[in-house]
Amino acid sequence: MRLMKPLVTTSLALILSTALYAGDLPKESRVPGGIAVVPLSGIVSASAPKADFRGNRVMVVSATGTAYENQTRWLAVVGIPLKAKSAQKLVISAGGEKYPFTIEDKEYKAQYLTIKNKKHVNPDPEQVKRWRREKAEMVGAFKHWDPIAQPPVTFALPAKGPFSSPFGLKRFFNKQPRNPHSGLDIAAPLGAPITAPASGTVLTTGNYFFNGNTVIMDHGQGLTTMYCHMSRIDVKPGDKLKTGDTLGLIGKTGRVTGPHLHWSVSLNNVRVDPILFLNN
Ligand SMILES: [Zn+2]
Repeated sequence: MRLMKPLVTTSLALILSTALYAGDLPKESRVPGGIAVVPLSGIVSASAPKADFRGNRVMVVSATGTAYENQTRWLAVVGIPLKAKSAQKLVISAGGEKYPFTIEDKEYKAQYLTIKNKKHVNPDPEQVKRWRREKAEMVGAFKHWDPIAQPPVTFALPAKGPFSSPFGLKRFFNKQPRNPHSGLDIAAPLGAPITAPASGTVLTTGNYFFNGNTVIMDHGQGLTTMYCHMSRIDVKPGDKLKTGDTLGLIGKTGRVTGPHLHWSVSLNNVRVDPILFLNN
């Protein structure tokens, strides 16, 4: 009996995390840092139309098997920037048409953190230069486009542990305002495994000033995921991974207050709430 339960749980988790069928969509949440699913009505082409939002290419998936299938053939799945204001009209362009959509406000909480390494709050000019270089490298990865027809849009959790900081928090480091929290933090012990939440390819790995040891995975059509503060990286660019494959280990490298995984999900070069992709 002792063996039975974990076995059943594992196989169920495997079925849930590998289920990839037409009709899978992330959870829609039309708020800053959320996702809009926009029907590209009127476009009947057999192949997916090219869609664009603020200069970045947007994921387009088949509406077949979704709640929209009687309404449209194609759906744009768009990441909404945290900085977007609800009064702004957001517009996707596709097939020569404009598709406007509106969003609601979301008030994210504030978080105050104390960082012992002062350079991680007020870096010197050389460190700022380093950070800018690293940021350009990361944005390059976030903008990567692989034309996979049906990218995996439901994820398994990449680490076991409580969520210690949600996405979107307004952040103050040593009382100074900084960029909002662009990922989800999962608290886990030093050396615990970090695993791929879905199939994909390793785009880049690096040791970054703020993010520490980092891996960025590509899942196709501008959907990428990033893993930070790792103590060890076990993959290299070009590696093809399946759900549950190990990326490396939990660590406390970069700007941290303790060991944890910072997990970011990016769509059309916009960091969105990873919760929206979780499959249970
Ligand atoms: Zn974080």
